[in-house]
Amino acid sequence: MSQSEDKTAQTASLTNHDRKPIHIPGSIQPHGVLLALSPQLDILQVSDNTLDYLGRTTQELLGQPLNTLLAQEQVAAIRQCWSKKVDSVTSYKVSIITLNQERYFDCIVHRTEDVVILELEPIHSRDEVSFLSFYTLVNEAIAQMQKTSNLTEFLHLVATELREITAFDRVMVYQFDRNAAGSVVAEAKREDLPPYLGLHYPATDIPAQARDLYTRSLLRFIPNLTAQPVKLVPIENPITHQPLDLSLSVLRSVDSCCIEYHQNMGVAALLVISLIQEQQLWGLISCHHHTPKHISYELRQICEFLGRIVSSELTHKVNQLELDYKVKLKSLQSEFIESISQADNFIDALIKPELRLLDVVSASGAAVCLDNEITLVGATPDIEQVRALIEWADTQVKDNLFSTNSLPQLYPDGIAFKDTVSGLLLLRISQVRRYYILWFRPEVIQTVNWAGNPNEFIHLADDTLTLNPRKSFAKWQETVRLTSLPWKPCELDSAIALRNAIVGIVLSKADELAKINLDLERSNRELASFAYAASHDLKEPLRGIYNYSTILLEDYGLVLDDDGIECLETVVTLSVRMETLINALLRLAQLGKAQLRKRAIDFNELLNQLIDVFRASRQDSQLLDIRIPRPLATVQCDSVLVNEVFSNLIGNAFKYNDKAEQWVEIGYLDPDEQQTKEQTPVPPLFYVRDNGIGIPEHHRETIFRLFKRLHSQEKYGGGVGAGLAIVKKIVELHNGRIWVESTVGIGSTFYFTLE
Ligand code: ADP
Repeated sequence: MSQSEDKTAQTASLTNHDRKPIHIPGSIQPHGVLLALSPQLDILQVSDNTLDYLGRTTQELLGQPLNTLLAQEQVAAIRQCWSKKVDSVTSYKVSIITLNQERYFDCIVHRTEDVVILELEPIHSRDEVSFLSFYTLVNEAIAQMQKTSNLTEFLHLVATELREITAFDRVMVYQFDRNAAGSVVAEAKREDLPPYLGLHYPATDIPAQARDLYTRSLLRFIPNLTAQPVKLVPIENPITHQPLDLSLSVLRSVDSCCIEYHQNMGVAALLVISLIQEQQLWGLISCHHHTPKHISYELRQICEFLGRIVSSELTHKVNQLELDYKVKLKSLQSEFIESISQADNFIDALIKPELRLLDVVSASGAAVCLDNEITLVGATPDIEQVRALIEWADTQVKDNLFSTNSLPQLYPDGIAFKDTVSGLLLLRISQVRRYYILWFRPEVIQTVNWAGNPNEFIHLADDTLTLNPRKSFAKWQETVRLTSLPWKPCELDSAIALRNAIVGIVLSKADELAKINLDLERSNRELASFAYAASHDLKEPLRGIYNYSTILLEDYGLVLDDDGIECLETVVTLSVRMETLINALLRLAQLGKAQLRKRAIDFNELLNQLIDVFRASRQDSQLLDIRIPRPLATVQCDSVLVNEVFSNLIGNAFKYNDKAEQWVEIGYLDPDEQQTKEQTPVPPLFYVRDNGIGIPEHHRETIFRLFKRLHSQEKYGGGVGAGLAIVKKIVELHNGRIWVESTVGIGSTFYFTLE
């Protein structure tokens, strides 16, 4: 066979491994004898080594009752086995007279549905250790183990204690993951051996069948992997006509793959103890020795007992670990939520400090997407990749959540950034607003703990061997490629809790705002009514003051001296001015209560009429240079009010202008001419531009306040300082905005929108 054929054959044998039944090998290991007995305890099958251990040939034993071998009371004890449950194992110490010599054995008995299986392992005096010393050993080991609370420390202690008890070269604790792949999580070893701690193995290393047997029988012992197996005679059971089921046999011979696998690691003797958590195989304690090594059944029982203790402690410690983690997540979560709910800007609080956002679900990177703005935290793909990922992931979301630990397998574009994102957890906070939080986890290979570099201990030059730690590790890498550590249910819960909190915060902020708005509206309405009533009522006495003053001037002018007349004239002027102020106030108050009468208004027409009226009312009308560079649009608005806006702005443009050649330009900017970051359609932006005196920077907002003037009464032709306040009010009634840009001495441009 060529080398490559040989390789293919071995790979095939590995993949077929799961199919070859390993519980009916038809043979046992040679360090003991097996007898299969009928319910009447007649010998049906024996292993083909009875002559060595019992001094009788198989033919001498087959068909004979058990009492040809054992004394009456021993047979009576074994008969009781039938009253026990299938799978329950009992052991006795028995003595058998072989060739006139008494020999001692550990006799391990269990029953299947049809037969009793009796296995005898000779006891050598040098193997015997008193029960008391074992008890002391175990007791101490258990006491030590119970002291540790940390799982890693605990497992390390388990390995150390077991190595001490068994004196094997290496004791490892394997843990299986959800896909039955294993990793070495604790190890105690002879100092000169290379470490296997941290290594990962593919599920195929311990096939499902073997795992199943490990779950049923908690200890497996192979004192010599190279020992020749001993066949059963006859090979088929005469009652069932089937090969004998050796699932629970302590002597069952070893599957060839298992032998090859361990020999490749230089192992000659093997002891494996199962660790069970909630009826599932959680892991194994695997003891390796590099030369054949026998340990007594009694010592193995102690090991099995320790294994059971470890299993029960494990359940407790794993649960504790999970609980600790859940508690940690919960406290991180509540701290996080509290800080974002108190922050002025909760979005900032979400992102800073960065680690907090990652810790709530134990991620290595995150992205927060608010509308089109994406903020990245930790290890992430670039913004455009994240944007495309959101587009795709949004279609996968169910109940506001989507999570996967193998993103590149679902989303092929993700292969480009598998190193940072093989695991994705996406939380949709609002679909309408496109609010998302994404968390990322790297490919699992990137997160492996490289304790014990697998490349450092390739002992085997022969490349045809399929399994050794290094190759097994490489195989494991292949199987976990494009995969991250899975998202735990408690981490998904943590994400959902965060979403609920954010939604709650946003809603309560919106509630708060709505309430404030409502209050504001009410007080605005009240204020408008008050201003309206007050200014209306003030007008009447004012009119009286004016009337009586003019009557005094006209009818009693002759009685008064010049000073008196001057005083009365001032009263008249002031009352006129006051009336102007009151009218302005009244106008503003009216606007507060106004209902808009919106219609489609052609601004060209509106302005033409307005300019005509404007020119008619002024003596210097020929000098008025009003420019409209391009036709204006038709806009939905209240024409009377918008007329007032333009007439105020145009009036001011000429009023606050000291140039010899004055001009006003009226126009608009299209959306593409406007410098705006917004993606939503924007309304046209109108402007009224002049070459007037300009407005200093610090007054550009104050000029819109009621009665705010920048100049004395006399300068620039009077005015009460209400025009721009009224303009602003009208623009806002149309949901628009108004502002001014200006250069002192050059001119001003008033911009406004109407929605
Ligand atoms: P007024 O009745 O005083 O004109 P407004 O509310 O219309 O009141 O204007 C407020 C102040 O803003 C004015 O007093 C003036 O100082 C300033 N102002 C308004 N428009 C212009 C302009 N086009 N150029 C320079 N200053 C202006």
